[in-house]
Amino acid sequence: MTYEQPNLPYDVDALAPVISAETVTFHYGKHEKAYIDNLNRLIKDTEFEDLPLEEVIRQAKGALYNNASQAWNHIFYFFSFSPQGSREPSGELRKAIDRDFGSLDKFKEAFVDAGVGLFGSGWVWLSRDDEGKLLITQGSNAQNPLTEGLTPLLTFDVWEHAYYLDYQNRRADALRALWDIVDWDVVEARY
Ligand code: MN
Repeated sequence: MTYEQPNLPYDVDALAPVISAETVTFHYGKHEKAYIDNLNRLIKDTEFEDLPLEEVIRQAKGALYNNASQAWNHIFYFFSFSPQGSREPSGELRKAIDRDFGSLDKFKEAFVDAGVGLFGSGWVWLSRDDEGKLLITQGSNAQNPLTEGLTPLLTFDVWEHAYYLDYQNRRADALRALWDIVDWDVVEARY
């Protein structure tokens, strides 16, 4: 099985100025593509070849794990955004956010703080556990909450390549701006 890079559900300039067309072009077109190309190269003729990508992430180690996870994480990340979309969660997800974080604003603040506080490269995640409780976690490098039995709902990429062209060293500004393009309908569907 060969993994294909999905087309973005919007134009490369559709997320500007939050994420510029230049960043999307490099981040999706070069970084995400490279992880998917590496995944296809590394998985060929291994025992993992015909597994769903989520199972490869749960079972593989080393370079195959890193590239499988980075492929999945980037697809998940770019599909969390849209130029028009629901800018606030509603329904059961909204109730869970209010219950577990106090309010939507408190959740957003805690999520950005976790992203800013992650040393080096990685991802900040919102996930739910088996009981529906929401958790914010930090993951270094390629880490994915699937390996901890959690269901990922939303992630922000905190690798410098995700924001350096637009925000240079201002990671907090880069993460806060992403709230303007998160599509909460997508996040709710994952919940
Ligand atoms: Mn990235």
